[in-house]
Amino acid sequence: MTNLPEVRGKLTRNRELSGLTWLRVGGPADWLFQPADVEDLQHFLANLDSSIDVFPMGVGSNLIVRDGGLRAVVIRLGRGFNGVSCEANRATVGAAALDSQVARKAAEAGIDLTFLRTIPGAIGGAICMNAGCYGSYIADVFVSAKAVTRDGKLVELSSEDLNFKYRQSDLPQGWVLVEATLEGPSGDPEEMASRMQHQLEKRDATQPTKDRSAGSTFRNPAGFSSTGREDDVHDLKAWKVIDNAGMRGATVGGAQMSEKHSNFMINTGGATAADLENLGEEVRKKVLENSGITLEWEIKRVGEF
Ligand SMILES: Cc1cc2nc3c(=O)[nH]c(=O)nc-3n(C[C@H](O)[C@H](O)[C@H](O)COP(=O)(O)OP(=O)(O)OC[C@H]3O[C@@H](n4cnc5c(N)ncnc54)[C@H](O)[C@@H]3O)c2cc1C
Repeated sequence: MTNLPEVRGKLTRNRELSGLTWLRVGGPADWLFQPADVEDLQHFLANLDSSIDVFPMGVGSNLIVRDGGLRAVVIRLGRGFNGVSCEANRATVGAAALDSQVARKAAEAGIDLTFLRTIPGAIGGAICMNAGCYGSYIADVFVSAKAVTRDGKLVELSSEDLNFKYRQSDLPQGWVLVEATLEGPSGDPEEMASRMQHQLEKRDATQPTKDRSAGSTFRNPAGFSSTGREDDVHDLKAWKVIDNAGMRGATVGGAQMSEKHSNFMINTGGATAADLENLGEEVRKKVLENSGITLEWEIKRVGEF
């Protein structure tokens, strides 16, 4: 893969991705592109051979990159894409801004986006995944987003365009989110600060936050909804059916279903991506045998084996 377009940002060939993911596994990307700004990204995509795959990556907190790596240009946004500005009840944020930073800055400005405080990703990943916790989701606060299409056009996306569902959206393959506007209810900055502190403590008490994980391994299975909201249909907890199948603490190589939270898969040290994926498939098999429920991966698995 040669003759990539000239850029002002940084293009790195054959870049190992393991260091860029929370699970610390995965082979190299053919190329890693870190654009200088939106215009640089637009120019690159407009001039990139259309046969070359593009994979936008956030901070890799919901990803298993397979051991064979990615035959693609991975696009990772950094400085130049992480601004946060607040006005009235709205925060306009760069796609590389960390969820935690957005929650804190919004709270200081009296805007309640506190549910983002404990989600470790960046805003691009949060929108793509319709991230959420404590009963709130990106879909609830989303106003609009800007994205660069695979052929380099800058477009504005509405909620309807993204068609948010439980832990997913309809963002087209290869489009890169660059900015979003979120709107939250008004809140008292001090009360929100203490609520976020409480959320952090609750996470540390119930989840393996100090281990290498990618959050929930599987989506909560669809079941009964007391409210009719699509998000609430997933009331049945994946960790429960995993426990019932006896898979809490199960291991394959260096991969383990956490003893602390059985829907969190962790790299205990020397895990490969194959260990993690094989463990997940073993869990799916045992849960299906035990309860007839087919678990669906929430962690995205990309690249070659
Ligand atoms: C300890 C822990 C706790 C977690 N808790 C939660 C939780 O409570 N709730 C929850 O929802 N999730 C949770 N997660 C999962 C994860 O943090 C979220 O899914 C997060 O939104 C992913 O963001 P990211 O930047 O890491 O995206 P990545 O993992 O890098 O990518 C995820 C997806 O988003 C796409 N993407 C990323 N950036 C862009 C962009 N700029 N443009 C287009 N597409 C993009 C990628 O292509 C990929 O398909 C947790 C993870 C961990 C490790």
